[in-house]
Amino acid sequence: MTRWAVRRILDGCDVPAPEEPDVPDAPAMRVLILDIETRPNLAYVWGLWEQNVGLNQLVQQVQVICWVAKWLDEPGTTEFRSVHHDGHGAMVRRMWELLNEADAVLHFNGKRFDIPHLNREFLELGLNPPSPYKQIDLLAAVKRAFSFPSNKLAYVSKALGLGGKVQHEGFDMWLKCMAGDEKAWEQMRVYNERDVTLLEDLYHRLKPWIRSHPSFGAMNDRDDVCPGCGSENLKPQGHAFLNTGRYQRFRCEDCGRWSRSTKRSGKTNIVEVAA
Ligand SMILES: [Zn+2]
Repeated sequence: MTRWAVRRILDGCDVPAPEEPDVPDAPAMRVLILDIETRPNLAYVWGLWEQNVGLNQLVQQVQVICWVAKWLDEPGTTEFRSVHHDGHGAMVRRMWELLNEADAVLHFNGKRFDIPHLNREFLELGLNPPSPYKQIDLLAAVKRAFSFPSNKLAYVSKALGLGGKVQHEGFDMWLKCMAGDEKAWEQMRVYNERDVTLLEDLYHRLKPWIRSHPSFGAMNDRDDVCPGCGSENLKPQGHAFLNTGRYQRFRCEDCGRWSRSTKRSGKTNIVEVAA
């Protein structure tokens, strides 16, 4: 459907098409895909089972040791930084700079894992918060919309035919990296980069299912594009019914997302009140 046809639905049938349609640039939103790896807390323990570790037994707290980031749909922007190659401060500061440029961040369980870990490191380095960004957490999207036997990235990506994660030797790889083993770091980089590639592929599969996706329209001051992908290719299909009235519903012919107008096309003047 043409952009002007959508406009006519939103604004009413009498809106004439302008002689030279004023079409702004294609809506843009810079989305940073990221995945971090951490080293665990290090502590003295008296046993191996059901330990209750006191703070005076803690030798070294958990720390981010490396990350991979890439701008969504921007080839050649994959970036790997680590304590080993860059030093801890430079690695953390570079992530701060990237987040500062991002409109949104794409991750897997990042709301609970990656972002709080990064925020702790920013605070410890004396950095203020980067400019606010929206978060697209693919684990939350998978949990909300589907029932897979496992919600892990390795399982879900394989089930969708996207290929699996890079196999590695488990915790030994972390131990070797912490000891400065170059081969282990190379393995870590490949493993970390693969996760970001998987995240990008998984995002494209899940896109129309992701609820509360940051709105391309709102970010670009456009009220006639798909909120999830910015496409103008919207097809009117049915209506959304809220207690306040009827709203035109659209399906995006590019990504498949459903959306609706915020303008009422039919209304009721009476709504219930809580008793
Ligand atoms: Zn779309």
